[in-house]
Amino acid sequence: METFIDLDSLGDIFVYLSTFFGAFVAALWLSLLFWTYRDVRSRTRDRIIHILVILLVALLNLPGLLIYLILRPKVTLYEAYQRTLEEEALLSEIESKKVCPGCGSTIQFLWQVCPYCHTRIQKVCAQCGQLLELPWQICPYCATPVHGSPHTVVELEEASHVAETVDFEEPSQPDDQESKNIEDS
Ligand SMILES: [Zn+2]
Ligand SMILES: [Zn+2]
Repeated sequence: METFIDLDSLGDIFVYLSTFFGAFVAALWLSLLFWTYRDVRSRTRDRIIHILVILLVALLNLPGLLIYLILRPKVTLYEAYQRTLEEEALLSEIESKKVCPGCGSTIQFLWQVCPYCHTRIQKVCAQCGQLLELPWQICPYCATPVHGSPHTVVELEEASHVAETVDFEEPSQPDDQESKNIEDS
């Protein structure tokens, strides 16, 4: 009698265990599908790829998941977006910086002369006082023609401004100094 009872209870235990195991496998399978769906959605917006990946994992389970992990896009959409933002910020930072043509130092937009190598960067309009690029022959702000060589007339007029802050090594030949500086670079 005792052996019968033991067999019965063993059978019960086996049924319980297999039911439990089946439920566990089903839950695992669903979790894998759910995780994969969430992951693939964060990496691509392509619906066809979503469906293909879900089918792959639904049919092959863990080996399918392994294939997906090998082939999935490396960065998520959010990471790609963050990277684009960082690149744009870097780019605008570079664009907002001006570099001395003479020595390559970072200079500011309102400077007339590079304080490091004394290269002239901009000139001043005699009429309206706006800063002009050296090659300009006419002021874009007040339409006054800038006479003569871009480096001579205005250069002399500005000398008094500049002398306060910048000490030219050769004040009598600023043109030569400037062209030397450009050649050196
Ligand atoms: Zn410089
Ligand atoms: Zn002007």
